[in-house]
Amino acid sequence: FAINMNQLQLEDELGRGAYGTVKRVLHKPTNVAMAMKEIRLELDETKLNAIIMELDILHRAVHPSIVEFYGAFFIESCVYYCMEYMDAGSLDKLYGAGVPEPVLARIVCYMVKGLKFLKDELQIIHRDVKPTNVLVNKKGDIKLCDFGVSGQLEKSLAKTNIGCQSYMAPERIKGESQNALSTYTVSSDVWSLGLATLEIAVGQYPYPPETYSNVFAQLTAIVHGDPPELPNTYSDDAKDWVNRCLVKRPEGRASYAELMAHPFLRNDHLKEVDMRGWVARAFAWRSEQRQQQEEQQQQQQQQQH
Ligand code: ADP
Repeated sequence: FAINMNQLQLEDELGRGAYGTVKRVLHKPTNVAMAMKEIRLELDETKLNAIIMELDILHRAVHPSIVEFYGAFFIESCVYYCMEYMDAGSLDKLYGAGVPEPVLARIVCYMVKGLKFLKDELQIIHRDVKPTNVLVNKKGDIKLCDFGVSGQLEKSLAKTNIGCQSYMAPERIKGESQNALSTYTVSSDVWSLGLATLEIAVGQYPYPPETYSNVFAQLTAIVHGDPPELPNTYSDDAKDWVNRCLVKRPEGRASYAELMAHPFLRNDHLKEVDMRGWVARAFAWRSEQRQQQEEQQQQQQQQQH
């Protein structure tokens, strides 16, 4: 069945991304809480229809590591995209100063399984693997969202700035000026996965913008510098796994099957990892941080008056 705006009751704003806002909504006929993403596009109806049709493939993307898609519709020049509501939000706001190795391994397992499913079953390359696109719920599930299924949608999103955190593989950064499409293969996602893993592990993006005088210097470091590595506080298996993702030549990177068979992840399913407990602690920490920030802002405002 198709979802439309009349069935939805709008609730809190969950976040703002580069292209629009995400709100929590209640689907009244089924009483299901959903997340609704609004993407503003200045397009005619034919193109919007094409996008809605292309998004339809998402109904087949049903997997424990993929955020469930409920449907999309457009009103005027906005596309509204409804998906599973993940009540602990995105991983970038939960990892704090980094996560312990067993939790890291479990998160990464979910991510690799999701990416492998998209590629093997649906022939989809994610194209935007990063901690903001990994969503978490309080049951301890880890799921991927925001993968590239609609060519028309990608074309319509104005990619004017790369942002200060690039997860793009070296060949993509180099290839942007030549032919970005031909250089994009599944191994580009493996690079992004390696960077995301490092960031989740240590609690910091591996090429912090404050280290570089500008974005060009930062991208130059990604293309010409040595790949970053996990610190020695992690096991040799974990370090080797990240190294197998962060190989500069795309042909040299591991496949998803190899990454799952690697000693870092091979026996993960036999281990007892309290993901629910980890999410509860991370979420409490995040809520505390938010409250402190709000209090500071209020104090600053009071001082100004
Ligand atoms: P970006 O453009 O940075 O990828 P999005 O527009 O996808 O950001 O999302 C903005 C924020 O909204 C995210 O950082 C996340 O916290 C929240 N969000 C997105 N999707 C969901 C969801 N399905 N459930 C809960 N929160 C979500």
